[in-house]
Order: sequence, then structure tokens, then C-alpha cells
Amino acid sequence: MKTCQVSVVVPCFNEDEVIEAFHRALVSVLEPTRRTFEICYVDDGSSDRTRARIGSLATADRRVRYTSFSRNFGKEAAMLAGLRMSRGDAVVLMDADLQHPPELLPRMLELRQRGYDQVVARRDRTGEGALRTLLSTAYYRAMGRCMDVSVIDGEGDFRLLSRTAVDAVLALPETNRFSKGIFSWIGFDTAAFTYRNVRRAAGSSKWGGRHLLNYGIDGLISFNTRPLRLAIHAGLALALAALGYALWIIADVALHGVGVPGYTTLLTAVVALGGIQLATLGVIGEYVGRIYCETKRRPHYVVRETSESPYGSPNFVA
Ligand code: UDP
Ligand code: MG
Repeated sequence: MKTCQVSVVVPCFNEDEVIEAFHRALVSVLEPTRRTFEICYVDDGSSDRTRARIGSLATADRRVRYTSFSRNFGKEAAMLAGLRMSRGDAVVLMDADLQHPPELLPRMLELRQRGYDQVVARRDRTGEGALRTLLSTAYYRAMGRCMDVSVIDGEGDFRLLSRTAVDAVLALPETNRFSKGIFSWIGFDTAAFTYRNVRRAAGSSKWGGRHLLNYGIDGLISFNTRPLRLAIHAGLALALAALGYALWIIADVALHGVGVPGYTTLLTAVVALGGIQLATLGVIGEYVGRIYCETKRRPHYVVRETSESPYGSPNFVA
């Protein structure tokens, strides 16, 4: 078999409305590059006609392969499945909604040829709500301080990885996957360029506010234990403050005798301490929860069918 030079991995969840337009755009960009390519669609348990559509794309074109999940497992799982399935020397990860413009592929391939193992297309924030921009910027600042790996604003999953980089990503066995952190953790020479943000071509984003908040917490917790350290620091600072306060009271009593009992102080101290303790417990709980999930060693997803198994026999992939 001829070797495959480029694999494009596309996670799709309910992308019925755009998938065909996306496919046409992608093929029209890939063909002129004169490279052998394959397109790996991963249907993440869509409830619309996405699966049927990628199925017929695969039937019509041998360069198209797909995997379909038994239910929605999330984009992280879908990307993982796509990376595992890819066979190309370079692998490009992109969204199906045309927010990752296929026209940028030649530039990414060219940078790969210059020897970069990772090429990142970074979007700017054109056309985005002011509040979202503000929150994201603040989040990335905070992340920058808290994380051991660097995560940069606008750098998402739209990137090219060399086969070596893909192997490095696949060698990480964790159940809780936070790709942005993983891509940064594996290292290698990385090139980045910025493109103008585009709106989704059709359909709707699957990321609501709560989803984003949870994703943010995942990012903080997945890559380090600094929140635990922060809890210890806060505890120590409070204990010191309390000690100082106690000494001050003792001195006060020794000098002036017992005054009016300080209910307010007492109550404030109890409430503040209670709050901090609860928050700390929450932080510890997050980590324990993660340990629990990791120890179960469940597969990241369950496959319903793949283009390689035309009869659709369910098979389980770790
Ligand atoms: N996606 C997925 N599984 C999910 C949610 C999203 O595979 O549970 C895919 C989706 O089909 C799209 C990409 O991930 O190709 C990005 O999703 P979306 O456009 O909803 O995210 P946004 O661009 O708003 O960050
Ligand atoms: Mg999108």
C-alpha cells in the first residue's frame, strides 16, 4: 500500500448541516497539494444524520475512513479515536464546522516540511462577544500562572502533528484528557501563526457556559497539583493571622482585663474558616475523583462501527 502522507482527523457531533460542505472544501484544498491523504471522520454519537453522511462519503471515496461511537463521549475522546485511527506521516486535527479554514492546510504542511513537529493555527477573537473575550483572557492569564505547561489564548485543537508527536500524544494513558495541556506537555519544535476567527458555518456550538466553566476547571486540575499547594498556603496564612490575633487578645486581657465579648469577630472567623475548609475539601475532592476515574481504567469510548468493519459489529477500543 502506498504510504499516506497526510491524515486529517475530524471529530463530528451533530454536524449534519455542514459536513458535506466541509468535505468538499477540504478535498479541494488537499488535492492540489499532490500528497497522498486520508480523511478520518469520528462521529461522536451524533443523533442526526451525520453518521449516515460520513458513511456515504466513505463509500464514495476510498480516502475517507470513519469511526462511529455508540454515544456522545465528547470531543477529547473523538480526537483520541481519530489520532489512533490515522496512518499519515502528518496528522491535522480540525473541526467540522468550517471554523478551522481548510485553506490554511498548505501553509501548515509547508511548515511541517521545514521541520516543525507541531504547527498550530491560532485564532484571534474577531467577532466574539466582549464578555466572552474578557473572561477568556482572564482565564488564560490565571492559567499561565497556575499551570506547569503553557497554554496560549486562541491556540486550540487546530494543529498539525508529525507522526512522532502523534505517537507521543498516544503514549499518554490518562483517562481525563485535556488536549491543550497534552500538546504543550509533549514539547517538540512548534510553529504557530494567527488567522482571523470565523463563525460556525451552520449548526450550533456544543459549548454552553457551564461546559466552558467545567473545561476551565479541568484545565487547572489536569496538569498540576498547584491548587492543593494554594490551599496549604491559604491555611498557613490564616493560621498565622489567627495566632497573631490570639496573642493580641491575650495581651489586651492582661493589660485591660476582660472587655465586651467579641461576637462579630468570632462569627467572622468561624465563617471564613468554614468557607476555606469547604473550598479546600472541594479541591481535594476533585483530585480524589480523578484518581477514582483513572483507577477504573475504562476505555475512553465505545465504537459502534468503523469503515473497516462494514457490518457494523460493535467492538470495544481501550
Ligand atoms: N464535537 C465533538 N463532540 C462533542 C462536541 C463537539 O466531536 O461532544 C466536535 C464538533 O462536531 C466540532 C468540534 O468538536 O467539529 C468543535 O465543536 P464546536 O464547534 O461545538 O465548538 P466551538 O467551535 O464552539 O468551540
Ligand atoms: Mg465550532
